[in-house]
Amino acid sequence: MARVLVVEDEPAIAELIAIHLRHAGFEVALAAAADQAQAAITAALPDLVLLDWMLPGGASGLDLVRRWRADIRSRELPVILLTARAQEQDKIAGLDAGADDYLVKPFSPGELLARMRAVLRRRAPLASDAVVEVAGLALDPTTRRVRRGDTECRLGPTEFKLLHYLLTYPEHVHSRAQLLDRVWGDHVFIEERTVDVHIKRLREALLPLHCAQLIETVRGVGYRFTLSAPPV
Ligand code: CA
Repeated sequence: MARVLVVEDEPAIAELIAIHLRHAGFEVALAAAADQAQAAITAALPDLVLLDWMLPGGASGLDLVRRWRADIRSRELPVILLTARAQEQDKIAGLDAGADDYLVKPFSPGELLARMRAVLRRRAPLASDAVVEVAGLALDPTTRRVRRGDTECRLGPTEFKLLHYLLTYPEHVHSRAQLLDRVWGDHVFIEERTVDVHIKRLREALLPLHCAQLIETVRGVGYRFTLSAPPV
């Protein structure tokens, strides 16, 4: 279930958006001011942010996008800007600041959801239902099945998300802090050792599929899903 942070200071609009998103299967958190939005992002990265341009609390939506884009942790965070400003130069300013998309109020719930799905497909494949297949290993988010050839294995929910993330970025090395952010959604309150525990469980679960060795430990850095297994 994708987690969406809705940053909107008008309670009626925020509630209406939240109702439509929850109905569409999203998990919704609300922030009514810029400082609240920043606190939410600092605590845990959502899968997507719907961000009002004009906000109380010291910074505009545009300021927030610029700040998030400048921080390595939130650089890839999917953001859709919501605003009543329909001028072309405002749209250009919003997109140039780093927003993935721009929606002018009033907008229909249908268009909002379609644009969110498009941004998630592009930016946050972990929140999408597409099957991922790497090195013969296929992971299906809809059925929650993992198989290689005719062999299937069962994974716990955390191991499933972890494998989904690693398969989505093969050969990329991820630090434990990055994995906590992207897989657990929290790098502040969870200990980095937690990652090691779940990597160990994931490798054990993958043994019958003969690909446990593809989850590689990169000394001093973290983990990666490698396409060329190291010598055993
Ligand atoms: Ca506003």
